[in-house]
Amino acid sequence: MSASSTLHALVATEGAASRGPLDDALEQLDQAVVTLGFDDGTRNMLAAPRREVTVSIPLRRDNGTIEVLTGHRVQHNFSRGPAKGGLRYSPHVNLNEVRALAMWMTWKCALMRLPYGGAKGGVTIDPTQYSSAELERVTRRYTSEILPVIGPTRDIPAPDIGTDEQTMAWMMDTFSVASGHTVLGTVTGKPVGLGGSLGRAAATSRGVVFTALAALRHLDITVHGATAAVQGFGKVGRAAARFLAEAGVVITGVSDEHGAIWNPDGIDIPALESHVDRTGTVVDFDGATAIESDLLLTLEVDLMVPAAIEGVLNGGNAAYVRARIVVEGANGPTTTEADRILADSGTVVVPDILANAGGVVVSYFEWVQANQAYWWSEAEVEARLAERMESAWNEVLAEADRRDLPLRQAATCLAVRRVAEAHQQRGLYP
Ligand code: GLU
Repeated sequence: MSASSTLHALVATEGAASRGPLDDALEQLDQAVVTLGFDDGTRNMLAAPRREVTVSIPLRRDNGTIEVLTGHRVQHNFSRGPAKGGLRYSPHVNLNEVRALAMWMTWKCALMRLPYGGAKGGVTIDPTQYSSAELERVTRRYTSEILPVIGPTRDIPAPDIGTDEQTMAWMMDTFSVASGHTVLGTVTGKPVGLGGSLGRAAATSRGVVFTALAALRHLDITVHGATAAVQGFGKVGRAAARFLAEAGVVITGVSDEHGAIWNPDGIDIPALESHVDRTGTVVDFDGATAIESDLLLTLEVDLMVPAAIEGVLNGGNAAYVRARIVVEGANGPTTTEADRILADSGTVVVPDILANAGGVVVSYFEWVQANQAYWWSEAEVEARLAERMESAWNEVLAEADRRDLPLRQAATCLAVRRVAEAHQQRGLYP
């Protein structure tokens, strides 16, 4: 194994607590504001969430006891259209995290030229500890509580960590029952039989792989035989690993919340998927060796795909990253401190608002289809997604060249400028 145990000790002891995703999001905005030469008033308007709703969710548990959970919906901006963004169920959810994720949605939608602002929702809950009936009650009560601020013209939720198409079906149903008629455009990421879009489930991973392959080609690295490590084997990482392997990339490391595995000759992804379907984790897969989870991020690979949560690449481990390219499948996996370290060491970081935008792009397609009540073929969805990813990639690259900036700063500048322009054109009321 090339990643040594000394290194592991260093990574583990230095640890570097991140300041939190909101600090990172605000610092990224501030960098863009300086580059664009905006004044403080404009900066403050872009930084402040337009609306925040925090609700109590009293839950009757299956055993008859009552538990009170907390949920949030933050609408960071709607200057360019209705707010848009996922709903997260995780024990780590807190208001500042939701604020950061909402701000990143604003920039992501603007970067992809979607007619949306940005939002995010979250409930502080570990969904693995609750029955499906309990999760249904949580979802319906949360939806009822935020009902006045959501809907196809106001704010359109979608899945995120800990939620899925079933969660979206319950949200859509709760909203529809309250409206007295079925409103398919209320949420995206719904089951295909209920107004969902073909291609939505794999869309984020498809976008991640599109940008990963574009980045490899940009650095003149041959795709066939290039190596990659994927951190997180959930909704985004799993299909990304599969699509990368299908493109000829050798996946040498994979991790999930339970552990990490490594095989320098390449992990057989279909076999790993069968193992995960059977056991629920990548751990103990017999086609690879177990390694410490921290070491996965330091493997010597062409591509590193963090596809789980925020802050995994931070001041404590960024100096040990040996990947040539980091493609952010997750939102906010790289802290601003890590960004500086990676820029200094020449690692190319393809930022989240570009790399993982495939999900919200196909969410937009789903909303368009639902509003028109006319559905496209999977091939059509995928072709339109590829077109959007390609033009955003080209725009970000051109902006990075023009301003001599890392890709994240270039992408953020493009997005922030578009949102600021919408503010200016609409004017300040009253
Ligand atoms: N949760 C996904 C994201 O962070 C998708 C959001 C959406 O489709 O609205 O981009």
